[in-house]
Order: sequence, then structure tokens, then C-alpha cells
Amino acid sequence: MNRVYFDNSATTMVDPKVVEAMLPFFSDRFGNPSSLHSFGREAANTIEAAREIVGESIGSRSKEIVFTAGGTESDNLAIQGAVFANKEKGNHIVTSLIEHHAVLHTCQFLETQGFKVTYLPVDEYGIISEEDVKKAVTKRTLLVSVMTANNEIGTIQPIRAIGEIAHDKGALFHTDAVQAVTKTPIDVVKDNVDLLSMSAHKLHGPKGVGALYLEKEVKIRPLMYGGGHERGLRSSTENVSGIVGMGKAMEIAMGSMEEDVERMRSFRDRMISEVLSGIPNSHLNGHRTKRLCNNAHFRFDFIEGESLVLQLDSKGIATSTGSACSTKSLDPSHVLLACGMKPEHARGSLRVSLSRLTSAEEVDYFLGILPEAVAALREISPVKSWE
Ligand code: PLP
Repeated sequence: MNRVYFDNSATTMVDPKVVEAMLPFFSDRFGNPSSLHSFGREAANTIEAAREIVGESIGSRSKEIVFTAGGTESDNLAIQGAVFANKEKGNHIVTSLIEHHAVLHTCQFLETQGFKVTYLPVDEYGIISEEDVKKAVTKRTLLVSVMTANNEIGTIQPIRAIGEIAHDKGALFHTDAVQAVTKTPIDVVKDNVDLLSMSAHKLHGPKGVGALYLEKEVKIRPLMYGGGHERGLRSSTENVSGIVGMGKAMEIAMGSMEEDVERMRSFRDRMISEVLSGIPNSHLNGHRTKRLCNNAHFRFDFIEGESLVLQLDSKGIATSTGSACSTKSLDPSHVLLACGMKPEHARGSLRVSLSRLTSAEEVDYFLGILPEAVAALREISPVKSWE
């Protein structure tokens, strides 16, 4: 086996068909979408075609989609944009302790700007209770922001119910669906979503491009001022090739979503049951069933997740601890700590994230190597028990 890639929650391989769709936009179809001539019109029409595809895949109208430079920008635009534009109505934001840093750090910044933020707790599986949301949301709440699915442990939140609670109190509902789009069905209308963040590189599209769904009545303030692109919400000449790539990646993923999700789920379940039954002192982080089809997140007592990632890497298997994707920090994951885990337990975690390109042979290879890798590290570990 060559190299095996099980870090698809960090990023995915760009589908060759996506690369093929993007290439002409670097050469003969290089026009600026704002130009009046045929080069410009061609680029503008292509962006609108991608907007249709992205909108359709989450049940929205194309004009409610704003292209951005990725999930982080979509989260910032949604949260900062919504609260600054509506601050005459209140100053309160509700989010959760397990959000991605693109949401958490944005909320922390907003606390320095006079906003009050409630960080909802989660249970041991990483699930937010609807009762807690009801208690937290008040008439002063401008925005509730809760992710559709967690990037570390894959837990899926009851977003439809949370959106309803937000709306009952007149608050907007934003969800970071960066990990969820194309992995679990989303319908922004039925799910009571006003703002939804997406990113292309998590679904076999290119890096540096994403989108924000913005319900047509919702007012937001832009983060950047300039030429007024994207309805004045995201000035800067559009990333035409990136947007084309995002549209193509979503079109491909939506075209075979049902069977892809089923296959990933069966690989995930096989991994979970073989690891838990075959490796002593191993545990599953997150919920057994309310989890993304492509996420298995384990905890192995007495070893460090980072050592295991390196041990597996030496056998050609790419995984992650799930917590250090952006900063390379060795701090225990804020998500696992919020689930009530002790830091020393959280440190032994390993995230295995699949994609629609994952094969049964790759799963077999991983399951063959993992028990030896864990045993080898336990052999040299100074910690032999939690006593
Ligand atoms: N939100 C979640 C849940 C993510 O997993 C990520 C990426 O790791 C982001 C936001 C940020 O997306 P991007 O890398 O496109 O800025």
C-alpha cells in the first residue's frame, strides 16, 4: 500500500474532474467578471452557474449565496456581519463551547466590542441540550451560532430545533456546516437556518474558497469595503477558478451523496467496532450514531495522540489528533475538555476521517496496522495505568 489518507476533516484531495473544470479559468477564460466584454460576461455567467449549484445543494436560492475565501471568512462574515448590522436590537450572542476557532475567536473578539456571549455546554458525547438553548436565548439575543457537525468528534447537533428556539425569540440562527455539507442532508428552510458557512476544500474542492448562505431578509454588514462585489458583502475580484471548483465539487458530491454516505458510514462502523473490540483500553469519543458518516475519533489509554499520529505516518497512514489542525498546539482539545474529559485522557486521541474516495483496502490496511502501533507505544509509555 502506497500512502493512505485518513485526514479528510483537515482537507481533501481535489477531485481530478474539479481540476479539469478549473483549468480553463487560468488560461483562455481568464476574464474579470465585472468587465462588460465577452471575457467578463463568460466569467460572470460561470460564477452564477456555480452559485446555482451551491444554493441548490442546501435548499436555498442562488441569490442567497455569497462566495468567500473559505469557512473562516464565512463564519466571520456571518457572525460579525449579523451582530454589527443589528445591534440596535440587542447585544447578546449564544454559541457553544465546542465551535471551531473561527467561531469561538470571533465571539471572543466581539466580547471586546461590548457584546455578551453565552457559551453553551455539551454532554459527554458533545451534544448541546435544547433546554440549555431555551434558557440561554433572551429577547436581547441577536444571534445563535451552533455548528451542524463538529470537526473533531463529528457530533451532529439538533440544528432544526435550535433554529426554531432562536426564531421563537426573534434571534437569527447561524450554523457552521463546513464539515457537514455533502455528508448529511441540509435544507436551510426546513432547518430554520438564516446563515450557513461552507468551505470547498472539505469536499474535494480547492482551498481558499467557500460560501455563506444568507437568507434574503437578513441584514449583515460586510467585513471589507471596496468595489461592491457579491452584493456589496464581499468586495474583491471574484476567485473565478476557485468558485468554479467549488461548484463542480458540490455538483459531483451531491450527485452520489446517498451511496457515498452509506459507504463511508459502513467503513466508519467497521472501524469503530473492530478497534473497540480488538484493542484493549480503547474508547470512542463523540456519539455512537449522531456522528458524521466519515468520522471515527478514538482514545487510547496510556499513550499520546501525537505519538500515534507519527507512528502511523511512518507506516504511510495520515491521521490526526483532531485538535491541532491549525495551530500545531499540543494543548488538549477544547472540544474533549468540554465533553468533560480529563486532559491526560484527552491527549490520547486519534481522529480518523474518511472521504468518498476511501477504499475498503485502505480501511483493511489501517485496521491491520493500528493495533501494533498502539501496542508499540504502550510498550515504551511510562504510564501503565491511570492510578
Ligand atoms: N469550521 C469548521 C467546522 C472547520 O472544520 C473548518 C476547517 O477546519 C473551518 C471552519 C475553517 O474553514 P477554512 O479552512 O475553509 O477557513
